[in-house]
Amino acid sequence: MMALIYSPEYLKHRTFNHPESPQRLISIMNSLEESGLINEVTIQTPHMAKEDDLRRIHSKEHVEHVKSFCEGGGGYLDPDTYTSPESYQIARLAAGGTITAAELALESFSSSYSMVRPPGHHATPDRAMGFCLFNNLAVALEHLRETKNIKKFGIFDFDVHYGNGTAEIFYNDPDVLYISIHQDPHTIFPSEGFVEEIGRGPGEGYNLNIPVAPGSKTSDYIYLLERILKPVFEDFGADFYFYDVGFDAHQDDPLSRVLLDDYFFEWMAMEIVSQPGPAALTLEGGYNLESLARCNLKMINVLTHEITIEDQKLTREDYKVRDETKILFKKIEDNFSPFFTF
Ligand SMILES: [Zn+2]
Repeated sequence: MMALIYSPEYLKHRTFNHPESPQRLISIMNSLEESGLINEVTIQTPHMAKEDDLRRIHSKEHVEHVKSFCEGGGGYLDPDTYTSPESYQIARLAAGGTITAAELALESFSSSYSMVRPPGHHATPDRAMGFCLFNNLAVALEHLRETKNIKKFGIFDFDVHYGNGTAEIFYNDPDVLYISIHQDPHTIFPSEGFVEEIGRGPGEGYNLNIPVAPGSKTSDYIYLLERILKPVFEDFGADFYFYDVGFDAHQDDPLSRVLLDDYFFEWMAMEIVSQPGPAALTLEGGYNLESLARCNLKMINVLTHEITIEDQKLTREDYKVRDETKILFKKIEDNFSPFFTF
Protein backbone atom coordinates (compact mmCIF):
# COMPACT_ATOMS: atom_id res chain seq x y z
CA MET A 1 0.00 0.00 0.00
CA MET A 2 1.19 3.46 -0.85
CA ALA A 3 0.81 6.46 1.45
CA LEU A 4 0.03 9.86 -0.01
CA ILE A 5 0.53 12.80 2.29
CA TYR A 6 -1.77 15.66 1.47
CA SER A 7 -3.82 18.37 3.15
CA PRO A 8 -6.05 21.08 1.66
CA GLU A 9 -4.10 23.42 3.94
CA TYR A 10 -1.44 23.39 1.20
CA LEU A 11 -3.78 25.51 -0.94
CA LYS A 12 -3.45 28.33 1.58
CA HIS A 13 0.02 29.20 0.32
CA ARG A 14 -1.47 31.65 -2.16
CA THR A 15 0.39 33.11 -5.12
CA PHE A 16 -0.90 35.48 -7.75
CA ASN A 17 -0.34 34.98 -11.48
CA HIS A 18 2.45 32.63 -10.57
CA PRO A 19 3.21 29.21 -12.12
CA GLU A 20 3.56 27.66 -8.65
CA SER A 21 -0.15 27.97 -7.84
CA PRO A 22 -2.63 26.13 -5.57
CA GLN A 23 -4.26 24.92 -8.79
CA ARG A 24 -1.38 22.45 -9.19
CA LEU A 25 -2.49 20.39 -6.21
CA ILE A 26 -6.17 20.81 -7.09
CA SER A 27 -5.47 19.28 -10.54
CA ILE A 28 -3.52 16.44 -8.97
CA MET A 29 -6.25 15.61 -6.44
CA ASN A 30 -9.01 15.85 -9.08
CA SER A 31 -7.19 13.39 -11.32
CA LEU A 32 -6.79 10.94 -8.44
CA GLU A 33 -10.48 11.15 -7.68
CA GLU A 34 -11.69 10.93 -11.28
CA SER A 35 -9.55 7.86 -11.95
CA GLY A 36 -10.63 6.12 -8.74
CA LEU A 37 -6.97 5.61 -7.82
CA ILE A 38 -7.58 7.59 -4.66
CA ASN A 39 -9.37 4.50 -3.27
CA GLU A 40 -6.26 2.37 -3.68
CA VAL A 41 -3.91 4.56 -1.65
CA THR A 42 -3.91 5.73 1.94
CA ILE A 43 -4.19 9.48 2.34
CA GLN A 44 -2.33 10.66 5.41
CA THR A 45 -2.46 14.04 7.06
CA PRO A 46 0.90 15.82 7.35
CA HIS A 47 2.42 16.83 10.65
CA MET A 48 3.57 20.38 11.19
CA ALA A 49 7.37 20.64 11.31
CA LYS A 50 8.60 22.20 14.54
CA GLU A 51 10.99 25.11 14.47
CA ASP A 52 13.62 22.71 15.82
CA ASP A 53 13.11 20.49 12.77
CA LEU A 54 13.72 23.45 10.45
CA ARG A 55 16.72 24.54 12.48
CA ARG A 56 18.55 21.26 11.75
CA ILE A 57 18.96 22.70 8.23
CA HIS A 58 18.20 26.40 8.29
CA SER A 59 19.75 29.32 10.15
CA LYS A 60 17.77 31.00 12.91
CA GLU A 61 17.88 34.22 10.86
CA HIS A 62 16.35 32.54 7.82
CA VAL A 63 13.50 30.93 9.76
CA GLU A 64 12.73 34.20 11.54
CA HIS A 65 12.94 36.21 8.34
CA VAL A 66 10.42 33.98 6.52
CA LYS A 67 8.15 34.02 9.57
CA SER A 68 8.15 37.79 10.08
CA PHE A 69 7.95 38.54 6.33
CA CYS A 70 4.88 36.33 5.84
CA GLU A 71 3.16 37.39 9.03
CA GLY A 72 3.76 40.99 8.02
CA GLY A 73 1.60 40.44 4.93
CA GLY A 74 3.87 38.48 2.57
CA GLY A 75 4.70 39.40 -1.03
CA TYR A 76 7.82 38.71 -3.08
CA LEU A 77 10.68 37.40 -0.93
CA ASP A 78 12.83 37.52 -4.06
CA PRO A 79 11.93 38.12 -7.73
CA ASP A 80 10.70 34.49 -8.10
CA THR A 81 9.44 33.56 -4.68
CA TYR A 82 6.00 34.73 -3.66
CA THR A 83 4.46 34.42 -0.19
CA SER A 84 1.08 35.10 1.38
CA PRO A 85 0.46 35.73 5.11
CA GLU A 86 -0.14 31.97 5.69
CA SER A 87 2.99 30.86 3.81
CA TYR A 88 5.28 30.44 6.82
CA GLN A 89 2.84 28.01 8.45
CA ILE A 90 2.17 26.18 5.19
CA ALA A 91 5.89 25.89 4.42
CA ARG A 92 6.31 24.28 7.85
CA LEU A 93 3.48 21.91 6.93
CA ALA A 94 5.28 21.08 3.65
CA ALA A 95 8.48 20.21 5.54
CA GLY A 96 6.39 18.34 8.12
CA GLY A 97 4.55 16.42 5.39
CA THR A 98 7.88 15.29 4.01
CA ILE A 99 8.88 14.11 7.50
CA THR A 100 5.56 12.23 7.68
CA ALA A 101 6.29 10.59 4.32
CA ALA A 102 9.76 9.54 5.44
CA GLU A 103 8.45 8.02 8.68
CA LEU A 104 5.67 6.14 6.87
CA ALA A 105 8.12 4.76 4.30
CA LEU A 106 10.09 3.29 7.21
CA GLU A 107 6.99 1.77 8.76
CA SER A 108 4.47 -0.33 6.92
CA PHE A 109 4.20 1.38 3.56
CA SER A 110 6.05 0.22 0.46
CA SER A 111 6.49 3.83 -0.61
CA SER A 112 5.19 7.21 0.40
CA TYR A 113 4.77 10.48 -1.40
CA SER A 114 4.33 13.94 0.09
CA MET A 115 2.33 16.09 -2.33
CA VAL A 116 3.22 19.41 -0.83
CA ARG A 117 3.77 23.04 -1.65
CA PRO A 118 5.66 25.27 -1.48
CA PRO A 119 8.41 23.08 -2.97
CA GLY A 120 11.82 22.85 -1.31
CA HIS A 121 14.89 21.91 -3.35
CA HIS A 122 16.15 25.44 -4.10
CA ALA A 123 16.01 26.61 -0.46
CA THR A 124 19.51 26.89 1.02
CA PRO A 125 20.34 26.99 4.75
CA ASP A 126 19.95 30.76 4.84
CA ARG A 127 17.95 31.72 1.75
CA ALA A 128 14.55 31.20 0.13
CA MET A 129 14.72 31.01 -3.66
CA GLY A 130 13.09 29.53 -6.75
CA PHE A 131 9.57 29.28 -5.21
CA CYS A 132 11.04 27.43 -2.17
CA LEU A 133 11.01 28.63 1.47
CA PHE A 134 12.37 25.66 3.43
CA ASN A 135 14.14 22.59 2.10
CA ASN A 136 11.49 19.96 2.75
CA LEU A 137 13.57 16.93 1.78
CA ALA A 138 16.65 18.01 3.75
CA VAL A 139 14.55 18.68 6.86
CA ALA A 140 13.04 15.18 6.60
CA LEU A 141 16.43 13.57 5.98
CA GLU A 142 18.00 15.16 9.07
CA HIS A 143 14.96 14.15 11.10
CA LEU A 144 15.51 10.50 10.10
CA ARG A 145 19.24 10.71 10.71
CA GLU A 146 18.74 12.12 14.17
CA THR A 147 15.74 10.13 15.39
CA LYS A 148 15.89 6.82 13.51
CA ASN A 149 19.59 6.08 13.43
CA ILE A 150 19.79 5.75 9.65
CA LYS A 151 23.26 6.29 8.26
CA LYS A 152 23.34 6.41 4.46
CA PHE A 153 20.90 8.26 2.23
CA GLY A 154 20.50 8.29 -1.54
CA ILE A 155 18.66 11.21 -3.17
CA PHE A 156 17.58 11.36 -6.79
CA ASP A 157 16.18 14.64 -8.09
CA PHE A 158 14.48 14.58 -11.50
CA ASP A 159 12.96 18.05 -11.43
CA VAL A 160 14.20 19.88 -14.54
CA HIS A 161 16.03 22.40 -12.36
CA TYR A 162 19.12 21.60 -10.27
CA GLY A 163 18.27 21.33 -6.58
CA ASN A 164 21.01 23.74 -5.59
CA GLY A 165 19.74 24.04 -2.02
CA THR A 166 19.78 20.29 -1.36
CA ALA A 167 23.16 19.97 -3.06
CA GLU A 168 24.65 22.78 -0.96
CA ILE A 169 23.29 21.38 2.30
CA PHE A 170 24.95 17.98 1.78
CA TYR A 171 27.96 19.08 -0.30
CA ASN A 172 30.54 17.99 2.32
CA ASP A 173 28.66 14.90 3.44
CA PRO A 174 29.82 11.42 2.35
CA ASP A 175 26.73 9.75 3.83
CA VAL A 176 24.31 11.58 1.54
CA LEU A 177 24.62 10.87 -2.17
CA TYR A 178 22.78 13.50 -4.21
CA ILE A 179 22.17 12.68 -7.89
CA SER A 180 20.32 15.20 -10.06
CA ILE A 181 19.32 15.13 -13.72
CA HIS A 182 18.38 18.57 -15.01
CA GLN A 183 18.54 20.89 -17.99
CA ASP A 184 22.03 22.23 -18.71
CA PRO A 185 22.50 25.12 -16.22
CA HIS A 186 23.97 27.31 -18.98
CA THR A 187 20.38 27.51 -20.22
CA ILE A 188 18.17 27.52 -17.12
CA PHE A 189 17.74 28.59 -13.49
CA PRO A 190 19.66 28.35 -11.11
CA SER A 191 22.81 28.41 -13.32
CA GLU A 192 24.48 25.77 -11.14
CA GLY A 193 24.70 21.99 -11.36
CA PHE A 194 27.57 21.33 -13.76
CA VAL A 195 29.29 17.95 -14.05
CA GLU A 196 32.37 19.35 -12.32
CA GLU A 197 30.43 20.11 -9.10
CA ILE A 198 31.16 16.78 -7.41
CA GLY A 199 31.13 17.61 -3.68
CA ARG A 200 33.84 18.87 -1.36
CA GLY A 201 36.21 17.47 1.29
CA PRO A 202 34.84 14.20 2.66
CA GLY A 203 31.78 14.75 0.42
CA GLU A 204 33.85 14.64 -2.78
CA GLY A 205 32.25 12.19 -5.21
CA TYR A 206 28.84 12.34 -3.53
CA ASN A 207 27.26 15.08 -5.63
CA LEU A 208 26.58 13.77 -9.11
CA ASN A 209 25.08 16.07 -11.73
CA ILE A 210 23.61 14.98 -15.05
CA PRO A 211 23.02 18.24 -16.96
CA VAL A 212 21.20 17.40 -20.21
CA ALA A 213 21.02 19.58 -23.32
CA PRO A 214 17.77 21.39 -24.16
CA GLY A 215 15.81 19.20 -26.55
CA SER A 216 16.70 15.98 -24.72
CA LYS A 217 13.98 13.34 -24.75
CA THR A 218 12.87 10.29 -22.81
CA SER A 219 15.34 8.08 -24.70
CA ASP A 220 18.23 10.33 -23.59
CA TYR A 221 17.06 10.22 -19.96
CA ILE A 222 16.70 6.43 -19.98
CA TYR A 223 20.10 5.98 -21.65
CA LEU A 224 21.76 8.08 -18.93
CA LEU A 225 19.85 6.78 -15.94
CA GLU A 226 20.28 3.10 -16.86
CA ARG A 227 24.03 3.69 -17.00
CA ILE A 228 24.35 5.98 -13.98
CA LEU A 229 21.52 5.90 -11.45
CA LYS A 230 21.18 2.16 -10.95
CA PRO A 231 24.87 1.20 -10.75
CA VAL A 232 25.83 4.20 -8.61
CA PHE A 233 22.97 3.67 -6.16
CA GLU A 234 23.84 -0.03 -6.01
CA ASP A 235 27.49 0.71 -5.34
CA PHE A 236 26.67 3.31 -2.68
CA GLY A 237 24.18 1.08 -0.82
CA ALA A 238 21.90 3.60 0.89
CA ASP A 239 19.68 2.62 3.81
CA PHE A 240 16.97 5.04 2.67
CA TYR A 241 16.06 6.75 -0.61
CA PHE A 242 14.51 10.13 -1.24
CA TYR A 243 13.18 11.28 -4.60
CA ASP A 244 12.61 14.90 -5.60
CA VAL A 245 9.72 14.54 -8.05
CA GLY A 246 9.43 17.18 -10.74
CA PHE A 247 7.21 17.18 -13.82
CA ASP A 248 8.69 20.31 -15.36
CA ALA A 249 10.95 18.37 -17.74
CA HIS A 250 7.79 17.30 -19.62
CA GLN A 251 7.56 18.52 -23.22
CA ASP A 252 4.36 20.48 -22.42
CA ASP A 253 5.84 22.32 -19.44
CA PRO A 254 6.29 26.08 -19.94
CA LEU A 255 9.41 26.39 -17.75
CA SER A 256 11.89 24.16 -19.55
CA ARG A 257 13.18 23.03 -22.92
CA VAL A 258 13.54 19.35 -22.09
CA LEU A 259 11.06 17.22 -24.04
CA LEU A 260 10.08 14.21 -21.95
CA ASP A 261 6.90 12.34 -22.83
CA ASP A 262 4.51 10.73 -20.35
CA TYR A 263 6.32 7.39 -20.54
CA PHE A 264 9.36 8.73 -18.73
CA PHE A 265 7.36 9.16 -15.53
CA GLU A 266 6.06 5.58 -15.68
CA TRP A 267 9.56 4.31 -16.34
CA MET A 268 10.89 6.39 -13.45
CA ALA A 269 8.25 4.99 -11.10
CA MET A 270 9.20 1.45 -12.18
CA GLU A 271 12.81 2.24 -11.34
CA ILE A 272 11.74 3.44 -7.91
CA VAL A 273 9.73 0.24 -7.35
CA SER A 274 12.75 -1.89 -8.28
CA GLN A 275 15.10 -0.01 -5.92
CA PRO A 276 15.64 -1.94 -2.68
CA GLY A 277 15.03 -0.07 0.57
CA PRO A 278 12.40 2.38 1.79
CA ALA A 279 11.59 5.30 -0.53
CA ALA A 280 9.98 8.65 0.17
CA LEU A 281 8.98 10.91 -2.71
CA THR A 282 8.31 14.60 -2.43
CA LEU A 283 6.78 16.93 -4.99
CA GLU A 284 8.87 19.76 -6.43
CA GLY A 285 7.96 21.34 -9.81
CA GLY A 286 5.59 20.83 -12.74
CA TYR A 287 3.68 23.80 -14.14
CA ASN A 288 1.49 22.61 -16.98
CA LEU A 289 -1.60 21.58 -15.05
CA GLU A 290 -2.64 18.86 -17.51
CA SER A 291 0.72 17.11 -17.92
CA LEU A 292 1.43 17.54 -14.20
CA ALA A 293 -1.79 15.81 -13.13
CA ARG A 294 -1.64 13.14 -15.86
CA CYS A 295 1.99 12.12 -15.34
CA ASN A 296 1.63 12.24 -11.58
CA LEU A 297 -1.32 9.87 -11.87
CA LYS A 298 0.71 7.50 -14.05
CA MET A 299 3.54 7.49 -11.51
CA ILE A 300 1.19 6.79 -8.62
CA ASN A 301 -0.46 3.98 -10.58
CA VAL A 302 2.90 2.24 -11.07
CA LEU A 303 3.92 2.79 -7.45
CA THR A 304 0.58 1.60 -6.06
CA HIS A 305 0.52 -1.58 -8.09
CA GLU A 306 4.28 -2.06 -7.76
CA ILE A 307 4.67 -2.57 -11.49
CA THR A 308 8.23 -3.35 -12.48
CA ILE A 309 9.95 -3.02 -15.83
CA GLU A 310 10.00 -6.84 -16.16
CA ASP A 311 6.21 -6.97 -15.66
CA GLN A 312 5.63 -4.53 -18.45
CA LYS A 313 8.24 -5.83 -20.91
CA LEU A 314 8.20 -2.43 -22.52
CA THR A 315 10.52 -1.64 -25.34
CA ARG A 316 10.83 1.63 -27.14
CA GLU A 317 11.05 1.63 -30.90
CA ASP A 318 12.26 5.20 -31.08
CA TYR A 319 15.23 4.61 -28.85
CA LYS A 320 17.37 7.33 -30.43
CA VAL A 321 20.04 8.90 -28.27
CA ARG A 322 21.67 12.22 -29.07
CA ASP A 323 25.44 12.39 -29.51
CA GLU A 324 25.62 15.04 -26.74
CA THR A 325 23.99 12.54 -24.40
CA LYS A 326 26.63 9.88 -25.11
CA ILE A 327 29.42 12.44 -24.63
CA LEU A 328 27.85 13.55 -21.34
CA PHE A 329 27.80 9.96 -20.09
CA LYS A 330 31.49 9.49 -20.91
CA LYS A 331 32.34 12.69 -19.05
CA ILE A 332 30.40 11.60 -15.96
CA GLU A 333 31.89 8.11 -16.10
CA ASP A 334 35.41 9.59 -16.27
CA ASN A 335 34.79 12.04 -13.41
CA PHE A 336 33.21 9.50 -11.09
CA SER A 337 35.15 6.31 -11.85
CA PRO A 338 37.42 6.97 -8.83
CA PHE A 339 34.31 6.85 -6.63
CA PHE A 340 31.87 4.38 -8.18
CA THR A 341 31.81 1.35 -10.45
CA PHE A 342 29.66 1.95 -13.52
ZN1 LIG B 1 11.76 22.77 -11.31
